[in-house]
Amino acid sequence: MERVQPAALKMVKNSILKGRVAHAYLLEGSRGTGKREIGLLMAKSMFCLTLVDGYKPCEVCLNCKRISHGNHPDIHLVEPDGLSIKKGQIQLLQEEFAKTGVESQKKLYTIVHADKMTVNAANSLLKFLEEPYPGTMAILITEQLQQILPTILSRCQVIPMRPLSPELLEKKLEAAGIDANKARLVAQLTNNLEEALEWSRDDWFAQAQKIVVELYEVLKKSPLEAMTMLQEDWFGHFKEKGQIDRGLDLLLLFLKDLLYIQLGTTEKIVNLGERSRLEQHALQTSGRRLTGQMAAILDSKRKLQANMNPQLLMEELVLKMQEGSSFV
Ligand SMILES: [Zn+2]
Repeated sequence: MERVQPAALKMVKNSILKGRVAHAYLLEGSRGTGKREIGLLMAKSMFCLTLVDGYKPCEVCLNCKRISHGNHPDIHLVEPDGLSIKKGQIQLLQEEFAKTGVESQKKLYTIVHADKMTVNAANSLLKFLEEPYPGTMAILITEQLQQILPTILSRCQVIPMRPLSPELLEKKLEAAGIDANKARLVAQLTNNLEEALEWSRDDWFAQAQKIVVELYEVLKKSPLEAMTMLQEDWFGHFKEKGQIDRGLDLLLLFLKDLLYIQLGTTEKIVNLGERSRLEQHALQTSGRRLTGQMAAILDSKRKLQANMNPQLLMEELVLKMQEGSSFV
């Protein structure tokens, strides 16, 4: 966890150690940045029976376990009911909190997608935030900070959750049991943990990587074969715009790796599973050529975003990648 959101974690750690835990926190950041995980960690820190080093939840006591399983009686979760969080939901929460904690004097509530509160719900919550019952803590979670009312914001300590760096994401994927080679590659393509996990476990992605390498190799042989391969394999697999874009990213990463080998910075390689093949290809091309090809791919990515016909775009790219070749 330390490696995932170091800044956010440090804030949490310091407030616990210094005994300055706020009544309300707002965890803010894009999807997949670990907001719920940090929220869970804060909840455990509050209820853990045997904190380690004075701030870390032990993960093994009864309370830690119940929080992991989502069944601690003094922890409440509010989520959008349909499209919004309604006033009634906040009122129910307030009634619940008017009673003391079932087991301890503490209570905690989490509001997920807090930006989806209706104005009435937000105003109800505001009263609650202004006069918190002793021993209560609120954790609000949002991906849309700009949609939170300033009056709510001013009552919360905001903890920003920034997108994960590729290095951190890679470690996180490995910790989740993803093969190291795959983790390295996927971490280059997204900074969203959920998405990265999804792709890592997806056959589509493994197949995509194969097709990209194949395209590069066919390109070296003949333009005609490359065109045939586009029709038969590439477009059979990369159908939607998002998929084509990911395919182009994979091709770009493959070329980057060739360049890293030529530059002798092999520790930067991301297609770890293709190492020997990369080394062989790196001998048969030049840095100048690779740079030109990478520029052509970036150009195609821009055209894709501008809604150029994918068929034309890919054919143009294949031709450009072959141009002026001492490549064959
Ligand atoms: Zn514990």
